[in-house]
Amino acid sequence: MGTEEMDTFKDRLQKILREAITELNSIGVYPSKTVTQVNVNTRARRRLGACRQTGGKPDPSYTIEVSSICRSLGDDDLKKIVIHELLHSCPACMNHGSRWKTYARKVESELGYHIGATVDYNDIGLGNEAERNYRYRITCVDCGKKMLRMRKCKVVVHPDLYRCSACGGMLQVDEINNN
Ligand SMILES: [Zn+2]
Ligand SMILES: [Zn+2]
Repeated sequence: MGTEEMDTFKDRLQKILREAITELNSIGVYPSKTVTQVNVNTRARRRLGACRQTGGKPDPSYTIEVSSICRSLGDDDLKKIVIHELLHSCPACMNHGSRWKTYARKVESELGYHIGATVDYNDIGLGNEAERNYRYRITCVDCGKKMLRMRKCKVVVHPDLYRCSACGGMLQVDEINNN
């Protein structure tokens, strides 16, 4: 990712962060004021975003980051990721527990953004990006259902001992060429 591309992405994220905070405040959700920017993580390949807490009570600070693989996403999808992480900076929301979920539901019903606890890469068009991090693709020869594995686990070595969880079909293993 070149410097110019990185700067453009950071600018977009900054704008999206400001909009997201304004929209959240408008429905009475207040992320930590310590979040003033979005950092770009160029190494995270499997996690789209993260929220980290530094310093303990009574004044914790939070930083949020978004993976550079998200740069191909549209603003709406980026905003969902930013909101997901911003919600973690609300009091007692560092996990996906009931408080975080309550906020996520409020965002969905009042702002119309679906904020899931996990993001399906395929839903946001990053399926190929996700696959890049895995070494093995296991495909059901009957229904086509796919699973990805990072390591040479049992099902990769002995696909004949396993069956598709969806239809009971036979499984085929392919090594993914990551270049
Ligand atoms: Zn989360
Ligand atoms: Zn199947």
